[in-house]
Amino acid sequence: MSLPWLKNNIEQFTSLVTEQRVPHAILLSAKEGMGKVDLAKEMAQLAMCENITENGACFQCGACELLKAGNHTDLTLIKAENAVIKVSQIRKLTSDVVLTSSKNQHKVIIIEEAEKMNASSANALLKTLEEPPQKVLIILTTNEIGRLLPTIKSRCVKINVPPPSHDIASKWLAKQFESKIEDINFALFISDNSPLVAYSILQNNTLDEVKNMVKDLLALQQQSVELLEVSKKWYSNNWHHHLNYISVILLNNLALKQGLKSTIDNCFTMNVPEHGLLLFVKSIYRFSKRLELPLKVELQLEKLLLTWKNMCGSANH
Ligand SMILES: [Zn+2]
Repeated sequence: MSLPWLKNNIEQFTSLVTEQRVPHAILLSAKEGMGKVDLAKEMAQLAMCENITENGACFQCGACELLKAGNHTDLTLIKAENAVIKVSQIRKLTSDVVLTSSKNQHKVIIIEEAEKMNASSANALLKTLEEPPQKVLIILTTNEIGRLLPTIKSRCVKINVPPPSHDIASKWLAKQFESKIEDINFALFISDNSPLVAYSILQNNTLDEVKNMVKDLLALQQQSVELLEVSKKWYSNNWHHHLNYISVILLNNLALKQGLKSTIDNCFTMNVPEHGLLLFVKSIYRFSKRLELPLKVELQLEKLLLTWKNMCGSANH
């Protein structure tokens, strides 16, 4: 899948490779859904291709063929295991990849969600970054650059992937799906303009589910539905994972109430006071944080919906 908004980043990196100025370590930061790992893999291919030109990788050499088949031994991908990148993963990488002799092309290590390194993993990586081996490129990707050690950040070339314009993102999505433009715009809106998040929303038919959730909230407000019925439906369909999209819609309502212009037409408007909207958004945030804990989700969901119902109740008086 070619992602048009990464074009500039790829062109700049191609120049670094052809001019033999590839850094030892790169830190790719962007919000979720921008294609950081796709970009890291494209960079790996450019650094590993045996016939690189200013037009990019050749897609024909041995390295390109192995990468296409997904089994090039000079490319290592590291991901969190149970939400943590462990020190053993980093040590294995430094012993297996870094210390073995390399050919003319680069060896590449991609560390996804680098903010998930714990203190010992970060320190182990730092040792490697302090004495960078020849012909090894380490690419870190992160959604949360603030959580990385400053000493790690300072040893990487930092590349930020800015979000594409709405126009580029919506045109790209229109090519992938036969959805109506209203749906594409709505998906981009609730995903905070992250094209790949919008992509998965459209692919998984999440839009209808989010619209149904809004209808349920409005029905709860009008007391035309039972709270337990709603919470059961949301829980059994796993809709509670869509609550962050509901937050975006509520915050848009808040912006409208404060006289700001909405970035989307015809988005659900709700007759709820400002402080109530803000309170519910905060409750959703707390609910999402608790999802990481081994608590009864169904019970938490009932509590959350009760907050909404009470808030609407107090607004009606
Ligand atoms: Zn090649």
